[in-house]
Amino acid sequence: MRTKIVAGNWKLNNNKEESKSLIKSLKKAIKNLPLENTRVIVAPTFVNLSSSVKAAKKSVIEVVAQNMHQAKNGAFTGEVSADMLKAIGVETVILGHSERRTYFNETDAALAEKVDAVLENGMETIFCFGELLEDRKSDNHFKVVESQLSNALFHLEAKDWGSIILAYEPVWAIGTGETASPEQAQEMHAFIRSIIEKKYTKEVADSVSILYGGSVKPANAEEIFSKPDVDGGLIGGAALKVEDFTGIINAI
Ligand code: 13P
Repeated sequence: MRTKIVAGNWKLNNNKEESKSLIKSLKKAIKNLPLENTRVIVAPTFVNLSSSVKAAKKSVIEVVAQNMHQAKNGAFTGEVSADMLKAIGVETVILGHSERRTYFNETDAALAEKVDAVLENGMETIFCFGELLEDRKSDNHFKVVESQLSNALFHLEAKDWGSIILAYEPVWAIGTGETASPEQAQEMHAFIRSIIEKKYTKEVADSVSILYGGSVKPANAEEIFSKPDVDGGLIGGAALKVEDFTGIINAI
């Protein structure tokens, strides 16, 4: 059975106290939920990772990073390495978010190097990708997604896929209130599994968790999560309020 995951990407939100307080409220809210085979993840900003890891102790909540640099160390002002994250108890990192690709010019080639650094450090990634509105309108969404995945991930060996979580986030659905329909999400997730099967094996394709992200809310989560190839969600706005995030966790 594939692991189900609900992950909150806090983006550039929550200072230290707000981060700790959100984690503490979430701890309380999900304490009695049956969460077998389900991971609950939050991704605070870099400066709040340490205090958030502490706040999440003795709970199922995992604290992950929103990005990292591919180099071990060196002259890369403002950057953070895999090793630095590991040293403060962070084992998982979100990579390739569309905001990183758009505003910080992250390319598939750089992302391939970041994925390698994650694996070299025995860490795990939630790897994001997804098409723009114009790609969908021109019916290029499958092609775009396939090239994002093959450029950044298909140099990996089958054994590496145990450290990869995929997050399909159609850019037109991020922060817009416009969600992909459950059918559109299912169609893409099934396509993703099919190309992984073609490149690797059915076993690899069947075992990788594929999350959907883009305007997931308590009101639409259940229907999206009910689709057979959707293994959970990467949540932005609705992860910032404990009631909403708990509602989404409940839906899984
Ligand atoms: P929203 O849920 O705010 O649309 O953001 C999705 C997202 O970008 C998660 O990484």
